[in-house]
Amino acid sequence: MPTAPAAFLRFLALLIFAALPVAVQAQSCDGALPPPGPDGRVAGHFPYGDAPPQDIVPAPAGFGLKPYCRVHRAMLGDLQRLLDAAKADPSVGGTLRGLSCHREVARQRNIFCRDRGVSAAERAISVAPAGHSEHATGYAIDFAVRPAHGCPDAEACMAASPAARWLIANARRFGFEMSFPAGNKQRVKWEPWHWRWVGTSPSEPGAAQARAIFAKARAQFPAEPGIRDPLKVVVTSQPPVPVVAVAAPPVPAKKGRRR
Ligand SMILES: [Zn+2]
Repeated sequence: MPTAPAAFLRFLALLIFAALPVAVQAQSCDGALPPPGPDGRVAGHFPYGDAPPQDIVPAPAGFGLKPYCRVHRAMLGDLQRLLDAAKADPSVGGTLRGLSCHREVARQRNIFCRDRGVSAAERAISVAPAGHSEHATGYAIDFAVRPAHGCPDAEACMAASPAARWLIANARRFGFEMSFPAGNKQRVKWEPWHWRWVGTSPSEPGAAQARAIFAKARAQFPAEPGIRDPLKVVVTSQPPVPVVAVAAPPVPAKKGRRR
């Protein structure tokens, strides 16, 4: 259990973290990226700053394809439960792996600038510019399938694999949602491999923080499959409606024979 001062420091770090994105400038490499829009998006991508380093922890053993797969500590329990459930399903087994996990802003810059053969605007359709990747938060994971069965990593064909179909059907139960569904209006490439953690409910430990970070994205461009909170039914009492006594119309007397 963290001590009270430690908890305060963590809260302070969260505040700084929340303020970081506005200070992070998009990396255009060749200067061809448009300036941020009114909501901070660059080429469709919302701004995200680096997670506090103390919140980033190693992913479950054997999950990452590379040894440095790390994730936000808040999602660790759900990720382990998801992997256990997937492993227990005969159609999936242990085929779900971590292709890419937490990525610092500096590393994202290297990735974005790696392919200079196409314009920055074109690259931004499939790779977020530095300072605009969900991976910086530690809440996003790119899943891969091993064996790959002929589908390269981070390609749409992954969606047809049993492991990806399992994710689409089950990831929500473990607090994960698909950030960039097919045909998303955010104009980001369909990424059936990219899932972000927001917790199964707002009250799950750490979920409120994750949901605050992704609030704009979730409101404007809902994930699909996404995690929808149950609708709150608000019952308001109505003022009593006075019952007005209405006099019944006179019943006409039956015509009968006079006796
Ligand atoms: Zn990703």
